[in-house]
Amino acid sequence: MRVLLVEDEPAAALVLAKGLREQAYAVDIAGDGDTAIFQAGTTDYDAVILDVMLPRRDGFSVCRAIREAGSMVPILMLTARDAVEARIEGLDCGADDYLVKPFDFGELLARLRALVRRGRQPLLPERITVGPLVIDTRSRQVRLRNSDVLLTAKEYALLEYFVRRAGDVVSRADISEHVWDEHHDPLSNVVDVYVQRLRRKLDRSGSESLIRTRRGEGYQLVIGAVAS
Ligand code: CA
Repeated sequence: MRVLLVEDEPAAALVLAKGLREQAYAVDIAGDGDTAIFQAGTTDYDAVILDVMLPRRDGFSVCRAIREAGSMVPILMLTARDAVEARIEGLDCGADDYLVKPFDFGELLARLRALVRRGRQPLLPERITVGPLVIDTRSRQVRLRNSDVLLTAKEYALLEYFVRRAGDVVSRADISEHVWDEHHDPLSNVVDVYVQRLRRKLDRSGSESLIRTRRGEGYQLVIGAVAS
């Protein structure tokens, strides 16, 4: 899942981004409202975390501009004011949820998970089962044929993306847009490298891979791939 974090204070932004990356999110940071509007218009984010207190253009104005551009990306506003007016303004300008600073990081994660689940896709449960594979998006635990599979944060993020798109053919561009951040070079072969790593952890020798290569198109997690 890829998130745009809009926060002008570099120290606060870095702490939050580090925490989110540890939870397997790909995170881009925008330091001001105009940059945020541009990035939200050019990248298909899974969620935007938007600080209200920004220089020049505040978070309410940014939120309104993102909605006016037609984007339905889930937006979580961070506000320093617990005033009713601030909450009302946030919801009125098209935010999906808000959190009052200072907040508990665990609560931010829970709200983010809820927003991404609601997202623009059909509602998915916290625990998703695809054939013999079960992933828990809260604990990020993966089980395959009733055994735990230990994955790194990035391997998990890639697998979760495949699971959310199970059965679809997903291109390398789709994968890099949702699993990596803007520092990822789309021309590198890192997506293929990570798919190979997942296959090594998920597949049994001699049987067909859960993640099929679709020549010229990308990859496909096969639904109902043979269990046993
Ligand atoms: Ca700020």
